[in-house]
Amino acid sequence: MKLKSLVGRDIDLKQDRVDDLKMRLRGPVLIPGDVGYDESRTVWNAMIDKTPAMVARCLGVADVITCVQFAREHELLLCIKGGGHNIAGLATADGAMMLDMSFMRGVWVDKKKRVAHAQAGCLLGDVDCETQIHGLAAVLGFISLTGIAGLTLGGGFGYLTRRWGWTADTVMGMDVVTADARVVRASSDENSDLFWGLRGGGGNFGVVTGIDYQLYEVGPEVVGGLVAWPASEAPGVLDLYRNLAEEAPPELTLVTFMRPAPPAPWLAKDMHGKPIIAILACYSGNAEEGEKVVAPIKSFGKPIGDILARRPYAQLQRLLDGTQPKGRRYYWKSEYLAQIEPTLCERFIEHASTIPSPHSAVIFFQIGGALNHLNEEHSPAGNRDARYVLNIAGSWERAESDKTNIEWARKAWTDVKPFSTGGTYINFQTADEGSDRMEAALGKGLQRLAEIKTTWDPENVFRTNRNIKPL
Ligand SMILES: Cc1cc2nc3c(=O)[nH]c(=O)nc-3n(C[C@H](O)[C@H](O)[C@H](O)COP(=O)(O)OP(=O)(O)OC[C@H]3O[C@@H](n4cnc5c(N)ncnc54)[C@H](O)[C@@H]3O)c2cc1C
Repeated sequence: MKLKSLVGRDIDLKQDRVDDLKMRLRGPVLIPGDVGYDESRTVWNAMIDKTPAMVARCLGVADVITCVQFAREHELLLCIKGGGHNIAGLATADGAMMLDMSFMRGVWVDKKKRVAHAQAGCLLGDVDCETQIHGLAAVLGFISLTGIAGLTLGGGFGYLTRRWGWTADTVMGMDVVTADARVVRASSDENSDLFWGLRGGGGNFGVVTGIDYQLYEVGPEVVGGLVAWPASEAPGVLDLYRNLAEEAPPELTLVTFMRPAPPAPWLAKDMHGKPIIAILACYSGNAEEGEKVVAPIKSFGKPIGDILARRPYAQLQRLLDGTQPKGRRYYWKSEYLAQIEPTLCERFIEHASTIPSPHSAVIFFQIGGALNHLNEEHSPAGNRDARYVLNIAGSWERAESDKTNIEWARKAWTDVKPFSTGGTYINFQTADEGSDRMEAALGKGLQRLAEIKTTWDPENVFRTNRNIKPL
């Protein structure tokens, strides 16, 4: 079998070696042509089309250790797949040995301690589902099909970020298989340098097998959902958005976006495909209070659709899943903002009006709150001056439309970049973003991360990621 080495050399692995690996693992080993291989190989973004030489679908920590040992023995290039949602396709690599964590999806909730232990192959929805039984939630993202591992290791934000910080800020500990195939605990008491690095420095330091999340009282019922208007109302809606967001209590998170209306049943049929603006809101505190807080959104102008209502928190977490299917082509550009200026709103509207695909959007996510109050060094997710995330989110279906859609996103990005804090979210970076963007995402933390990398992975075994090189 032909594989790639860590440094890109071709390696011919004898069949008896592969058979030996199969004997040692509980989970299956897949090669091209095997049932399930393509499901593992492919990632959310169809722009990424890579072919690992083999996939080990790990069933537990012992399998992960065996795989790391095997990869080290044979100097194989290793890649790790969590939910496969990384837009740059960092979970997969040509000729690599892939560790597919998607069979490791257990979640255990300690209700008394308010901690959930989740295996690293979980999707966000797995954690929401198990924690909400107890009226508890972890700080996770907006789409329930995203992997917890990549999201948490890169920072992570969602409806609860304004109350408790980046997802990474709320992690209590992680279990990690290191480059020398040992299992270690990373927490504030044990291997605290590794723990710090993992909370924003990506998968650079080992294979994470489990994550302990601090849980908070949320729901089960919250006020959440969407209100939409025709794009002609955008100036007024954006004014409303800016004012409400600036005054919002931490329990309220507001997102606004412009895009062609999808064929959703809650939107008037004659509006499908036409440009709209919408506000997505979640009030994660008391529902009665939430209804009062979101009332100005519901009563603004003449909405063409309104599904902002009381609903289970776990349902809100799934509400947008259908808008981001696996297998479409995606290209994003993103910046952090400290505020939303009126001139930026004008550019937002202008670039929304030239969206070349029915699936693309321009989006403001509100994140300001708890994360701004933590010390810059609390975790490498950092960016403590960020209060909004601006995302130019290109999404389309056919390869022949790549150029038009990428050009649109890049043009819009160039135009809005002057409003950035200078920081950007590492987990929203596309494959063409280089080391300058790593610096923009991790800032001063990069030096400390490189030192941690040198201690824990001096040979850069874990390199199919936003790679931090050992010193
Ligand atoms: C539709 C969509 C919605 C999103 N929404 C949000 C959001 O609301 N909030 C937010 O913060 N982000 C969001 N993101 C971004 C998301 O955080 C990143 O895409 C993240 O990388 C996804 O994690 P994953 O496990 O699915 O990634 P993968 O593609 O599987 O992996 C990403 C990286 O993490 C590494 N990795 C994965 N598992 C492990 C492991 N167990 N140990 C070590 N390294 C590992 C991989 O090697 C790779 O380098 C969204 C992305 C998408 C596509």
